[in-house]
Amino acid sequence: MKTVFHNMKISFYTIGCKLNQAETEELKKTLQQQGFSTVPFGKEDVCVIRACAVTCNASQTTREIIRQVKRRGTYTITVGCLENKNLPEINFIAKNNNEIIQHLQQLNKKYLCKPNKTLVTKNTLSKKTRALIKIQTGCNFNCAYCAIPSFRGRSSSIPNDEIINKIKELEKGKYKEIVLTGVNICQYNNNGLKLHTLLKKILLKTNIPRLRLGSLDPRLISDQLIKTLKNERLMPHWHLSLQSGSDSTLKRMNRGYNTKQYSKIIEKIRKINPLFSFTTDIIVGFPGETDKEFNETCAFVKKIGFTKIHIFPYSIRPNTLAETMKNHLQDKIKTERVKILTDLAQKTADEYRKKIIGLKRPILFEQKIANRWYGYSPEYLRVGYCSVKNLKNQIKIIKI
Ligand code: SF4
Repeated sequence: MKTVFHNMKISFYTIGCKLNQAETEELKKTLQQQGFSTVPFGKEDVCVIRACAVTCNASQTTREIIRQVKRRGTYTITVGCLENKNLPEINFIAKNNNEIIQHLQQLNKKYLCKPNKTLVTKNTLSKKTRALIKIQTGCNFNCAYCAIPSFRGRSSSIPNDEIINKIKELEKGKYKEIVLTGVNICQYNNNGLKLHTLLKKILLKTNIPRLRLGSLDPRLISDQLIKTLKNERLMPHWHLSLQSGSDSTLKRMNRGYNTKQYSKIIEKIRKINPLFSFTTDIIVGFPGETDKEFNETCAFVKKIGFTKIHIFPYSIRPNTLAETMKNHLQDKIKTERVKILTDLAQKTADEYRKKIIGLKRPILFEQKIANRWYGYSPEYLRVGYCSVKNLKNQIKIIKI
């Protein structure tokens, strides 16, 4: 194991959701401000691994990364949703970013590191297009398949003034788009101030051109929240978590809404904007899911016409209600159903895209690959455009 930490170099590996990414970005920024050197993964003395346990696969990836990092002799810190806290490869398990910062400061003192000012400037200026901002963490619900509340605890929200100040700061840094993220941002509640009021405040007090929301919970969509969508700075795309298009499955999942309520939300929003884009998550092969229930999900997917679906085969999460349920399905059935739903999702995505072809859209360009610039439309469709000009971080109206 490496024991010398002069000019200690810190890398990050983040598994899982946008909230994890936002927390890593926050940590990276704070460490850079304190003079720590942050380096690409693989070039480090210390690696901060942000774990995910949302599915069995995510947990396995977390374990593999921890082992891979340790094999090269790196000091390993983990944080986030870590399923197995007894892995011998981990040097330090942190509960949150503050604990990591304190721990690194102690390591710094111990090994007499000097802050590396050269890298500070370089890293701070590296990316200026879209920033993720954490507004909330934790969850007060108890979906039958989900272990997140056991890792993240109950919902707690970041004060609205703090969020607005962060956005103002990012504006100065020339960011054009902000994504508000959390475990369940619909549970945002800062002394009674809810998500829709937070959005109104952000729109009023900042000039950020584009605002997006992370995953949304159908059981907490209010008419006030829907009304905010009339403001064009709020992008016409929601990731509205579905999980199943079968009412009986949703009930077993303890999701607290049915397909009728879900459809109603879509209907109300598409009245404001018929081309509003919806993406979602679906779990396939939840315990007891029958052919009929799976077919109901497929029919519902067709009805809504999602732009994109993240499809997860159900996997047992420890200490969840679903773990104890009867009729767990064989992997073979889950794999077949994933394939059927993936094909269907591709079709609904293609149908949606066809509707956008020929329309003019403001694209926020992010990167150039070969001679083509790539960016996102307000509906969160990735668009390519040939240009010799530098379009990085520019919003340009083009015909799709
Ligand atoms: S809403 Fe359900 S799925 Fe989402 S974090 Fe809470 S318990 Fe988990």
